[in-house]
Amino acid sequence: MNCIAELLARASRLEQPGAEDAPLILAHVLDRDRSWLYAWPEYRLDDKESARYESLLERRMKGEPLAYLTGHREFWSLDLKITPATLIPRPETELLVEAALALPLQQASVLDLGTGSGAIALALAGERPKWNITATDLSAEALEVAALNAARLQRTNVGFLHGHWFEALDEKQRYHLILCNPPYVAETDPHLQDNGLPYEPQTALVAGTDGLSDLRLIITRAPAYLRPDGWLIVEHGLEQGAAVRQLFEDAGFDQIQTRQDLEQRDRITLGCYSRSP
Ligand code: GLN
Repeated sequence: MNCIAELLARASRLEQPGAEDAPLILAHVLDRDRSWLYAWPEYRLDDKESARYESLLERRMKGEPLAYLTGHREFWSLDLKITPATLIPRPETELLVEAALALPLQQASVLDLGTGSGAIALALAGERPKWNITATDLSAEALEVAALNAARLQRTNVGFLHGHWFEALDEKQRYHLILCNPPYVAETDPHLQDNGLPYEPQTALVAGTDGLSDLRLIITRAPAYLRPDGWLIVEHGLEQGAAVRQLFEDAGFDQIQTRQDLEQRDRITLGCYSRSP
């Protein structure tokens, strides 16, 4: 039987990508945090713990994302439950949350289209308790995860609706702000084969031949669901900034801006709709 120090030393000699997550996997198996491992290097795993650790490490080294193995991912400092029914929240999506928080909105009614694990809606719900947030998803399984996250985080100002984009909504509903992290990867993009993407729900990633099919629909239809001077904020691919700004313009938005990540890559675009739809 092995102790923590031996297991970690052995994992550190492995060269496969993913082996660097051994401490996080071990901490997960033992239901402790990482610092506990270093405080108790001589702790010996029982047979069940060992078998579980070995199997999870093996799956990780074959490419399965860590978040699906541990069932958790941090987003906006929130611990979210994640399953293979949900996209794994990405750090860049925090830009969308930041852009929303920078808008001068008090008691707003807000819509998060395609919420997945609920990451965006729940981050905003915590920061803006007075906002009334509706989160939708096409996947009933994803909505179950999102609702569970809302309950765990005690976010009572978020409601969930099931359906494809705007079809989930009551047609008369109007929002001060609509946010969406839609699928935007082109179906031929080789990037879909790496970095654990094959394990993620493809409907949350892939959008037609140019990656713009869902963005096109959302940007075109959003004005009908916005209140006067309402905002739309979308995440998009690094090379889609110009195309997305054009879609905002064609749909009649003003104050159109694209924001970049820390590496100066286009990530999100927002605009305000001041005409009457
Ligand atoms: N940013 C993700 C990726 O390229 C894609 C997420 C999405 O399609 N919304 O891996």
